[in-house]
Amino acid sequence: MTTPFEALREREAKVICKTYGRYPLALDKAQGARLFDLDGKEYVDLLAGLAVVNLGHARADLALVAAEQAQRLVHVSNLFYTEPQVRLAEKLVASCCADKVFFCNSGAEANEAAIKLARRYMRKVRGRDAFKIISLESSFHGRTLGTLGATGQPKFRDGFEPLPAGYVNVPAGDMDAMAKAIDDQCAAVLVEIVQGEGGVNPMTPDYAKGLEKLCRERDALLIVDEIQTGLGRTGKMWAFQHFDMQPDIFTTAKGLANGLPMGAMLATDEVARGFEPGTHATTFGGGPVLAAVACKVLDILEDEQLVRRSAELGARTLARFQGLAAELPEKIVQARGLGLMLAVELAFPAQEVWKQLLELGFVCNVTQERTLRLLPPLVIEEADLIRFAEALRRLLTAN
Ligand SMILES: *Cc1c(COP(=O)(O)O)cnc(C)c1O
Repeated sequence: MTTPFEALREREAKVICKTYGRYPLALDKAQGARLFDLDGKEYVDLLAGLAVVNLGHARADLALVAAEQAQRLVHVSNLFYTEPQVRLAEKLVASCCADKVFFCNSGAEANEAAIKLARRYMRKVRGRDAFKIISLESSFHGRTLGTLGATGQPKFRDGFEPLPAGYVNVPAGDMDAMAKAIDDQCAAVLVEIVQGEGGVNPMTPDYAKGLEKLCRERDALLIVDEIQTGLGRTGKMWAFQHFDMQPDIFTTAKGLANGLPMGAMLATDEVARGFEPGTHATTFGGGPVLAAVACKVLDILEDEQLVRRSAELGARTLARFQGLAAELPEKIVQARGLGLMLAVELAFPAQEVWKQLLELGFVCNVTQERTLRLLPPLVIEEADLIRFAEALRRLLTAN
């Protein structure tokens, strides 16, 4: 007898490109921080669809906003003014040091926009032929040909070369290497404050401040990729706010419309001069339904004080994981993170532990082979995180 899951897996294999190593799980519905598979089995969601569903699944308030806007105006293109897009941009710029927003449909597209803006600003506004984008090793900035050069992990480029020219990757945390790399041809430095896919590696405050200073001294733009870290994930609205940084450009996407595809690039007024009508565009970006939903997302973040919740609950959970690491030093190399962006790095490949956690009803993921990564919805109950920590302790002591 084939189960409904096996039947779906077979259909999938016939018609879907094999780009994903999927988990052995077909999800049917979700609510809050709970996922349900085809058999109705319940899971605690510690991943939020990769830091996307930050406010929890299947919210009636967001569904209502989407439905109302969908009955009013869905799409007209960016040839026209639409109010939700402007309202969303007003809310975003009120949350940070940026002045102008460009909307798009994904993280990679937001970074593409940032890279294009940095180059064009240098050439057309500053009259400097500066085009190099410097980013860090083990970073992740997207999978388009234009962002793969910035993504500092060779495994993602394998088989896709040649990539566009003008990218340089330097070791993370090494200020001397960065200083050497920023030359006259450098348009911008692009960094994550906490490397996500790279294994949840937060930048040190010294490196953050040093990097900003270096960019100013060398006349290079500072671009921060907040696609995973933004919107409260790390316990500040934007992760660069932990270090009082003022990037020239930053990008957001994942959590912006709580599961609907939306990205944005934000820039200062000065740097935004690099774009003029006709220089960059997207058909769908900033459409009315997505923008209305994202406005509501920002309202909920504020009303439910989820940024503070992320900081406080994240700190308590990290302390719990660090206690576990102290207890089991031969099993856990390090627990680290910022806010509710958390990781437990094991001393051995994490695949088996990950699988056992899944069987116990906990969905998290593995990055860099040995690291369990947790990106729970910001609304998750603390009891769920405590239960996860206890399950992990039991598994690690038994094995
Ligand atoms: C997910 C991610 C991206 C790419 O976003 P997509 O929407 O998948 O294109 C870029 N940068 C960071 C830091 C990310 O976490």
